[in-house]
Amino acid sequence: MKVIKIGGGCLKGKKTIESILDLLAPRVDGDIIVVSALNGITDMLIDGMADALVDEETIAPLMSRLRNRHISTARYLISNPDLQRAFSKSFGRELQRLERYYYGLSYTGESTPKMRDLISSYGERFSAELLTAAMRDRGVKTECRMPQNIGMLTDGKYEDATADLEVIRTNFRNHLGPLVEEGTVVFLPGFYGISQEGNITTYGRGGTDYSAAVATVAMEAEVLEFWKDVAGFMSADPRMVSNAELIPVLSYAEAAELCYFGAKILHPRAVEPVRRYGLDIAIKSTLDPDARGSLITQNSPETPHVIKSVTQNTDVGLVKVYASGVGARPGMLADVARTVTEQGINIKSVVTSQTCISLLLDKKDMDESFAALEELTPNPFRKVEREDGVALIGMVGEGMSVNKGVAARCFSTMDEAGINVEMIAFGPSPVALYFLVREEDLKISVKALHESFFNGKA
Ligand code: ASP
Ligand code: MG
Repeated sequence: MKVIKIGGGCLKGKKTIESILDLLAPRVDGDIIVVSALNGITDMLIDGMADALVDEETIAPLMSRLRNRHISTARYLISNPDLQRAFSKSFGRELQRLERYYYGLSYTGESTPKMRDLISSYGERFSAELLTAAMRDRGVKTECRMPQNIGMLTDGKYEDATADLEVIRTNFRNHLGPLVEEGTVVFLPGFYGISQEGNITTYGRGGTDYSAAVATVAMEAEVLEFWKDVAGFMSADPRMVSNAELIPVLSYAEAAELCYFGAKILHPRAVEPVRRYGLDIAIKSTLDPDARGSLITQNSPETPHVIKSVTQNTDVGLVKVYASGVGARPGMLADVARTVTEQGINIKSVVTSQTCISLLLDKKDMDESFAALEELTPNPFRKVEREDGVALIGMVGEGMSVNKGVAARCFSTMDEAGINVEMIAFGPSPVALYFLVREEDLKISVKALHESFFNGKA
């Protein structure tokens, strides 16, 4: 059996949803399909909470938007009137409950993490019910199960929960095993699970990928399939490099690096549980459903040029803290890191030298981090500088750390292209080498590196 994840990207317009259902209907039999909310619905639910806190008059229009979107989609996708009616009825009941939560929020004027998770989980509940009915309408034997009813236990942390894999393995086998065995296709809302105390807890934004990974492990599925409207993992961004190639096989570590730093193919957290149990992930393309796509697996063959992909991320900035003897003064790095993380900011990476601590940050966190460091009193630094307009390049490939020639080749390529490399991070990951260039040099750099490694020019 397999677990299939259908993301919000495949759940955009009615026609896109129709085509993914038609594509999957003949390909499923006793499998599990984990679904995201219809595109944009989670944002709508979350924005709706902020609006409801300000003005309860916003709740009714929100409810009609949610109703219209789901009901009109159901009308388009489901032809059998009985199935359509049954969906409308259960949807109506659920929507009514959701409406009460919004009024509760509005009257108490309090938005707790518990309430936020509860409300934002509704997008997935709606879409799972809707797709179950639509797939049944296509002659497939289907059932829908809610995570809270089949024991998808979490650690109870709101907005960033972790699944209890051992407990879920037992529970899923009991609840889903018999269904799957008799050939029923089970739909499961992604994005959330339930705590020991019975509270809905989400896995964070984009968490449906993680839900699907958990289901894969729990059921020991042969493969976890992600259907995407791209070919798979590529050797470079095709918008930058026209002859970028599909990567047919990659390791978990390679996939995790690619996802963490740029490729929006799957949530980095989804790799971990699957890796732990040695199961495979397949990235399948809706554009070419019979193509193999990219396979993420335990043993990824090393390619002759070691590098599998040249990846980039332009959503970064650098803050540099200068002081003498940074490397030798205890506590300095901790002070710097604390000052930034106290603002609730995630530091992506740190590189230190004797005179400088460089922090790699998301673009959106630059202003706040810089201000916090500047305001630190007494100021233990000589100066704090910021560097905007930079871009991160990642060279990813298993075998990179043992094959030091790769780094040499990388930097000689950059040198020949006349490009200045700013910050280099090598070592934290054995499968990746990262460095910064000026944003305006990005395209040339990526092209030159790809050319060098993939077309054997250097
Ligand atoms: N619907 C949730 C979100 O938008 C979870 C997901 O789609 O993975 O973040
Ligand atoms: Mg997603």
